[in-house]
Amino acid sequence: MNSRAVADRVPANHAADQDAERDVELVLAFLNTCDAEADTDVLDSADQWREWSTGRGLGVAGERGAARRIRDAMRGAVSYDPSAPAPVDTITWPVPVVLHDGVPVLGGHDALGTVLAASVHLVHTGHWNRIKICPADDCLWAFYDRSRNKSRTWCSMRVCGNREKARSWRERHATES
Ligand SMILES: [Zn+2]
Repeated sequence: MNSRAVADRVPANHAADQDAERDVELVLAFLNTCDAEADTDVLDSADQWREWSTGRGLGVAGERGAARRIRDAMRGAVSYDPSAPAPVDTITWPVPVVLHDGVPVLGGHDALGTVLAASVHLVHTGHWNRIKICPADDCLWAFYDRSRNKSRTWCSMRVCGNREKARSWRERHATES
């Protein structure tokens, strides 16, 4: 292998990592448009959804009802909650394929399409199964599991994890007494 080939590959991989980071950040932001702790949902308001999209430079927001169905289906797919209903319907949303110098990539002509293109990218690069929903019922925050063996359950061990540990300790001791 010549050194030129190696040198060429390093920046390309670095760029791919940065792309993945951007995709992760965008998909998490979309999944977290509903906030269980604050009891707010960006998708309850057309203005807020539009602001969310333009604030990220994603242009036209895309249909709000579809955004909610897609978000909730995606949250269901990455959630541990066994009581959550399994998504039954297939949702279709158009995402264009754009040729950049002849190389096909997924584009998006609205915010929803851009989020979906990023999500497809995460599925294909193996990052998708590190996207998780914190199971604490007053949290339900979407996060990216960076642990080596994908073992993280809680959004933050310091907050939800410790709180859950304290709760199960109390419950164990309540039944013992
Ligand atoms: Zn949490």
